[in-house]
Amino acid sequence: MELKPGFNKHGLSRTIPPDVKRQVRQRCGFGCIKCGCGIIQYEHVDPEFHEASVHDPASIVTLCPTCHANVTSKFWSKATIKKYAENPACLQTGVLKHEFDFFSDSYPSIRIGGVTHTNCSTPIEVFDRPVISIKPPETKGGPFRISGTFCDRFGAPTLKIVDNEWIAYSDSWDVEVSAGKIIIRNGPGDIVLKMVVDPPNSLSVERLKMRMGFVDIEATAEKLVINGNSFVGLLFDGCDVGLSIYSLRRPAFNEHWSPLARFIRAQACA
Ligand SMILES: [Zn+2]
Repeated sequence: MELKPGFNKHGLSRTIPPDVKRQVRQRCGFGCIKCGCGIIQYEHVDPEFHEASVHDPASIVTLCPTCHANVTSKFWSKATIKKYAENPACLQTGVLKHEFDFFSDSYPSIRIGGVTHTNCSTPIEVFDRPVISIKPPETKGGPFRISGTFCDRFGAPTLKIVDNEWIAYSDSWDVEVSAGKIIIRNGPGDIVLKMVVDPPNSLSVERLKMRMGFVDIEATAEKLVINGNSFVGLLFDGCDVGLSIYSLRRPAFNEHWSPLARFIRAQACA
């Protein structure tokens, strides 16, 4: 029997439905079950794809391209991969990781909602703590180094970046990484972070629902909203700090603080 390209002998398409992929990610802790890498591919293990009649989430695992190649090139057995699937690396460590590439000639541009920052070492800070910061290369020709901290609307961490290494958490509801995008969801349709990179020159936060202290930060592709104040189409170029929210170092920024805000900040500093 001649097989249709992209289909097996049971007529099953190679394309795995999105909800099945999500169930596989959740079971595997969102990263490679062997090494914890955050870039993944999907592999049918039992039954293998050529024998499968349905895409059963329980029979599919997540592997990084390197570990996946070890299986497809027959250096590692499917039996061993099934053992790793019983105790995935990311569920042991609680995290999945990978690295961004910012080998750029100048400060990478950072876009958060409707606000773009170019040549800016701290695009946004809250309470004098950077949400995102950029350090210049340590050596000539080295990468710019981005660090950052993102959390959800309850203040729980969703993504951390330390000198270009990004770290997501396996107790998230969903972490989807593909084609230069990291999407973190708190539930069906509830995106708390969508980050898109265009290496080596830019990083863009296209969706964000985040709370730090009493500061609510929301972003869409067009708009940044901080405690109900919208910012659209802004460009900060050549600033040390772009947006500084509730700064003690910059008293002029504090005049609009409410008494409650001052009290909470004082408690936070105590
Ligand atoms: Zn791996």
